[in-house]
Amino acid sequence: MVTSPPWKNSKSSAPMGPVLGRPMEDVTATYTIGKELGRGQFGVTYLCTDKETGEQFACKTIAKRKLVNKEDIEDVKREVQLMQHLSGQPNIVDLKGAYEDKQSVHLVMELCAGGELFDRIIAKGHYTERAAASLLRTIVQIVHTFHNMGVIHRDLKPENFLLLNTDEDAPLKVTDFGLSVFFKEGETFRDIVGSAYYIAPEVLKRNYGPEVDIWSVGVMLYILLSGVPPFWAESEHGIFNAILKGHIDFTSDPWPSISPAAKDLVSNMLNSDPQKRLTASEVLDHPWIKEDGEAPDKPLDNAVMNRLKQFRAMNQFKKVALRVIAGCLSEEEIMGLKEMFRGMDADNSGTITIEELKQGLAQQETKITEQEAQQLMEAADADGNGTIDYDEFITATMQMNRMNREDHLYTAFQYFDKDNSGFITTEELEQALREFNMYDGRDMEEILQEVDGDNYEETVIMQDGRINYDEFVAMMRKGSTEAATKKRRDSMPLP
Ligand code: ADP
Ligand code: MG
Repeated sequence: MVTSPPWKNSKSSAPMGPVLGRPMEDVTATYTIGKELGRGQFGVTYLCTDKETGEQFACKTIAKRKLVNKEDIEDVKREVQLMQHLSGQPNIVDLKGAYEDKQSVHLVMELCAGGELFDRIIAKGHYTERAAASLLRTIVQIVHTFHNMGVIHRDLKPENFLLLNTDEDAPLKVTDFGLSVFFKEGETFRDIVGSAYYIAPEVLKRNYGPEVDIWSVGVMLYILLSGVPPFWAESEHGIFNAILKGHIDFTSDPWPSISPAAKDLVSNMLNSDPQKRLTASEVLDHPWIKEDGEAPDKPLDNAVMNRLKQFRAMNQFKKVALRVIAGCLSEEEIMGLKEMFRGMDADNSGTITIEELKQGLAQQETKITEQEAQQLMEAADADGNGTIDYDEFITATMQMNRMNREDHLYTAFQYFDKDNSGFITTEELEQALREFNMYDGRDMEEILQEVDGDNYEETVIMQDGRINYDEFVAMMRKGSTEAATKKRRDSMPLP
């Protein structure tokens, strides 16, 4: 339930926040902001704890300097309104409160501590059509709910479905209403938004309604059953062309051994004509999705699980790379930071402890916010042992900020390729994941070996357990994470 806005700490004289249109308020008066949980284009989501009750939440912090035009501001306003509108609905992440201070807007919401949808599938280790049907049922029920409430999500993809906790039967929750809109019956939209693999053809043609969400879920279903996206190419352009062609491959493995009912449902969700596409309630009536319906209980081909693992590993790796590439500080800010680090490093060893850094930050006047410092500390503490090799970290961060996109990629690659071999190895990948607190204890080698020797032709990465630069570039361009595909609006060229 929305208990916001929590006015209790704000003085009536507090200046109005231009984004939320309510008095500015310090989120840290009520919550302690903790480690980073994830990030997208505008927001960084942190763990946060209610200072009074100790209850944990997730806080999505949107830096206002990234909101460059009126539309961006409208988007954030709308995200808050939409979440408030949908709060209390089962399987939708609850908004607890919204805060605005000088630098940022903070959305405090229910914490989903169980990770992303694919993590659960992979963790289970085995998988049937029946299990996929059960997941799909939950997902489509959620879509049915927000369509009934007049909302199109517009960014449905596996990364935006989170598990509430780590229990076996943890509820699935949809999050990230950053691209969502209210719609009225018959209203059409023109903005090109979404993430490449999941974008419906009519979005690319700039004339669409709520049916786009069913398409995206159809893409998810195709991935759930086969481990690969239905519309795939090396470049984003290629992906869009494939989407517009709309040809669905049911001849490659594992499709010949998948039930006819599943294929019937996939093709009806991925119908290029939105008028003919199934609606949410029609999907829920389909014989394959029904409880004890036609979805077989026999395990899916092992290759499917391996590809899912690979798909997930690639997304995860991409996220790490994006964090390196992010470069969200100005050069001036980085230089200031370097001077500050130097000042704290009494013995000129090039390393400082987290404690020293914290004290140092408290003493000095910095331009970076407390959260940014926190985030920086976490990123800079490579092995999590509480010391920071700041020279290396600053050098990498500096370079990131100075270059154009292409060079960013190369520097990011070099950053991961610790021994300059020209390849990123599984060890380096694992190290990178650890560095960015994204390593979840799984054996990287095992994941990669399992996907090795698979006959998935389009796979360019990790075939031999290592990635070269060309493969790295290809992978970064495939646009399956928030990367460049998040806000595309009019700035994006049509295919
Ligand atoms: P963006 O709009 O920037 O994509 P999201 O709302 O998708 O932001 O959040 C980015 C990431 O933060 C998510 O992919 C997820 O990993 C993490 N995250 C978001 N909301 C929560 C939450 N309520 N609980 C736990 N993690 C979350
Ligand atoms: Mg997101």
